[in-house]
Amino acid sequence: MNEKINIRGVYFDNVNMDEAMEKAKEMVKSDGFSYMVTPNSEIVQNCIENRELYDVINSAELIIPDGIGVVYASKILKTPLKAKVPGCEVAEKLMEYAATTGDGVFFFGGGKKTEEREAVSTLAANRMCEKYPGLNIVGTRDGYFTDADVPDIIEKINNSGAKILFVCLGAPKQEKWIYDNRDALKVNFAAGLGGTLDVFACTVKRAPKFFIKTNLEWFYRLICMPSRIGRMMKLPKFLFGTMIHKNKGFENK
Ligand code: UDP
Repeated sequence: MNEKINIRGVYFDNVNMDEAMEKAKEMVKSDGFSYMVTPNSEIVQNCIENRELYDVINSAELIIPDGIGVVYASKILKTPLKAKVPGCEVAEKLMEYAATTGDGVFFFGGGKKTEEREAVSTLAANRMCEKYPGLNIVGTRDGYFTDADVPDIIEKINNSGAKILFVCLGAPKQEKWIYDNRDALKVNFAAGLGGTLDVFACTVKRAPKFFIKTNLEWFYRLICMPSRIGRMMKLPKFLFGTMIHKNKGFENK
């Protein structure tokens, strides 16, 4: 079992990219349902402010640190995490892996229509199948729905025979959706992966390598989408809170 590191009540797996991939592959291969979440500072701060989210996040079998803020916090708490493990990179490596095994993949989430007129999930599926020959994408569904649509969505996913399910509805909606529906889903592995399908579909570009390497990807996203400023203010709030309160009150969650 991986070592768990408590960051303000969220129990992260202390893994690097290779170890995260090994664990994710094990989850895909093993019978029964399991899921991965990819919290960043914003999500941990959301848990602090909205405590019922802890169960949703901590019930995941794999919790990877998707953001440099979480890694900084682990250093402040003197229990350093090995690395930042971006969810979208794990997602892409899983596609490479699934292309070798033929395991069915389902993409759920993203906009209904792109400039190329197809849903983001369809475009993402086409692009990934071009990139990884052998990849078996067995279904897609856009991410805009009402509660009444959920049983049909679950039936579509289950009937597709998918083993791997990506749920890309933004956080914490996607994590709550997986948690609420975990008993009904027949996939082996589900993951909440935010804007990953937009990146797969090339409707949103990841930051240039320079920003990723210098841990400034958040800054690049802010320049491209200034409307994210409100969400991003959670990062300094989270880091200052960590400096002041450390893990006080979150030791035995
Ligand atoms: N989204 C969705 N359904 C919703 C709200 C959002 O499918 O009800 C999609 C949205 O189209 C986008 C993704 O969820 O593709 C959210 O991306 P974002 O970059 O905000 O996610 P983050 O990784 O920052 O949580």
